[in-house]
Amino acid sequence: MTVVTRFAPSPTGYLHVGNLRTALFNHLIARKAGGQFILRLDDTDPERSKEEYVDGIKEDLEWLGITWDRVERQSDRLERYQAAAQELRDAGRLYECFETPTELDLKRKKQLNMGKPPVYDRAALALSDAEKEALRAERGNGHWRFKLDLERIEWTDGILGDLSIDAASVSDPVLIRGDGQFLYTPASVCDDVDFGVSYVVRGSDHVTNTATQIQIIQALGGTVPSFAHHSLLTGPQGEALSKRLGTLALRDLRERGVQPMALLSLMARIGSSDNMELRSTMDELAEGFELTHFGSAPTKFDIEDVFPLTARVNQALPFEDVADRISEIGVPSDIAKKFWSAVSQNITVLDDLNGWWSMLSEGAEPVIEEEDTEFVATAMSMLPAMPFTDSTWSEWTKAVKAETGRKGRGLFMPLRKALTGQSHGPDMGQVLPLMQKIGIRP
Ligand code: GLU
Repeated sequence: MTVVTRFAPSPTGYLHVGNLRTALFNHLIARKAGGQFILRLDDTDPERSKEEYVDGIKEDLEWLGITWDRVERQSDRLERYQAAAQELRDAGRLYECFETPTELDLKRKKQLNMGKPPVYDRAALALSDAEKEALRAERGNGHWRFKLDLERIEWTDGILGDLSIDAASVSDPVLIRGDGQFLYTPASVCDDVDFGVSYVVRGSDHVTNTATQIQIIQALGGTVPSFAHHSLLTGPQGEALSKRLGTLALRDLRERGVQPMALLSLMARIGSSDNMELRSTMDELAEGFELTHFGSAPTKFDIEDVFPLTARVNQALPFEDVADRISEIGVPSDIAKKFWSAVSQNITVLDDLNGWWSMLSEGAEPVIEEEDTEFVATAMSMLPAMPFTDSTWSEWTKAVKAETGRKGRGLFMPLRKALTGQSHGPDMGQVLPLMQKIGIRP
């Protein structure tokens, strides 16, 4: 059987790290099996779905290299959902209800007060045609619920193992709203059946949906796919991530200079028993990907972990990959290669290049400890005139050493701080010839 997976975001916002996990898992499963990966846009809600989010979702996935074999939009398939609804009506599995949200809320509260689960009581099933007619005249069209078979719904989850949910503990799901809008459930079920989706992988917040979806698929005569529910991400302390998702949008991470393979390598392994290793291609990631190695416990996630990995990706880049960027920030072409080789091991994100170049081109505010004042003054008086060469640093420090008797860290650190304004940084032998200006002397 061909493996077909799908990622089904609603275009009501931009993607964040939580969605990314779902997208990536589905992509890797399809890729590893040589199957198909569908990008499905769950856009049945015309008010909240926006074209800018459709474009944004595609852009974000493309940035990460998560490519899809086809795109489907639920808004193109409303006729199909109508037909499926009719099929369910004809089979006596879809019934019209007229309760208002307030009435439903009241029912739920009463049930809870009596210690009962807040499950819809199916009162609408008892309505006669005349009563329905009267309610329709009074309240407009009703909403439609799927009548569950009250039995245990069982499946083997690809991550959570054997699961079962008693249908009696779940309300009959609403499939169509009073205004005729199809909700996510019927649309998703029809799509999964029609597109031959063989594996549905999504967050564990969908476990209950899966139970009801299995019955709807069966009622429509479709083949039930395999399901797997991955744990949800939490913040580093185990706190819910939902409040912070705004700051974890993929486009913001791209803005911050995160490297796609750093983020993907992390997301493809956290929460699993496999070690996280930085991979350089999607194929490598897919190769070692095993859904069964993931656990059910919520997965702690700290976005800061992506920066050391991003640094490793950036530091390993060949000059050709950064040449344009280096030229854009104003580094003259004759020293561009030397600049990269000097500073590449001292950046996390590529924007850090700007800081190094402004230090080299404009000079740094010198940092001089009190006890080094005299030493630095002596050393500076011995610094040869510009332009510096590759051997200036070693010749100069040798002479300063002979003159002052200082050596090792006591010799080099005050000079580094005086010239670069920092106690860390690239090899000074490489830095000095790149300096266009020296802050400490005009
Ligand atoms: N649009 C749904 C969501 O984003 C899709 C869920 C599913 O994968 O079935 O939650």
